[in-house]
Amino acid sequence: MSSNSYSGSCPVCQGSLNINSDNRPFERVDTNCMNCWFYSYTKTGRSTLEEVIDQKNEDLEDTFHDVAETITEYNRYSETDFNI
Ligand SMILES: [Zn+2]
Repeated sequence: MSSNSYSGSCPVCQGSLNINSDNRPFERVDTNCMNCWFYSYTKTGRSTLEEVIDQKNEDLEDTFHDVAETITEYNRYSETDFNI
């Protein structure tokens, strides 16, 4: 199974919420309400290098090795399109 459509309850107006899910190329769910026009969707992209380093610095000791390794890992996918 790849894509699926069903309905649920809108979190804003409790009306009928259209839900569309897909598991290719990865798991994602989009919703929209035809009553109050609430919507949600899966946004794709790539974090900036600064965001990656900031995130790593929160988890790890801030050493030169960690930063250099992060830059190498980041640049490994520099030619990749993340807008799937
Ligand atoms: Zn609604």
